[in-house]
Amino acid sequence: MSGSRSLKAGRICASAVLDLLLPPRCLACGCRTGHTGGLCPSCWMDMPFLENPVCERYGTPLPHDMGEGALSARAIMDPPVFDRSRSVARYEGPARQMVLALKFARHRDLGKPMGEWMARAGQELLSPESLVLPVPLHRWRLLCRRFNQSADLAAAVARAAGCTHEPMLLARTRRTRQQVGLDAASRQKNVRGAFAIRAGYVTDVFGRAVVLVDDVMTTGSTASACARVLKKAGASRVDVLTFALAVPEEA
Ligand SMILES: [Zn+2]
Repeated sequence: MSGSRSLKAGRICASAVLDLLLPPRCLACGCRTGHTGGLCPSCWMDMPFLENPVCERYGTPLPHDMGEGALSARAIMDPPVFDRSRSVARYEGPARQMVLALKFARHRDLGKPMGEWMARAGQELLSPESLVLPVPLHRWRLLCRRFNQSADLAAAVARAAGCTHEPMLLARTRRTRQQVGLDAASRQKNVRGAFAIRAGYVTDVFGRAVVLVDDVMTTGSTASACARVLKKAGASRVDVLTFALAVPEEA
């Protein structure tokens, strides 16, 4: 047996042993599946993947194909500060289960496959020159939660797309209320001026295409607050990539 063949056989054997010890589980519902890093057939069927056509700016689904660069009514009346946003799926069913499992059940092993799906969904936003940044948590919240789920996703996106990841560049300088339960205007007010670029990173943004990573996009007010700071520092564009999109009522 040649060296590479015996190496391959060894790898297959090791993965079979690992599957016996840790049987592969569905990323969303946790039931046993036949392979690692995937969904069970039922979650695949229910996964609310977002497909084109979507609004060029907000990434929200459009009722029918209106050609390249088409905008939703919201993007025309209330344009975001960021340039484009894209997401893997709607924040429903298995997609919501995955976000909650990563964030609250600390299933940090989900970060890698979720990030890889995001890199695929956000292909048009990512280039080897892109600067990938997570939406930061305030240091007190980071202390309580012990990890920032968006930074795990951003690391996986950057690795999959071959871009630079700068998890420390952006800081949340002010503690903000949770956005859940706030209307669009209150959300905007809540996060305005809450972000800043850390000293030592200010010149890193100038002329760069930034891709901001978060787990869920809702009204886009957090992403816009971050984008405002990054554009002020000279970012050539700021795009947003999230795993899930909570499609707002008006969209
Ligand atoms: Zn499942």
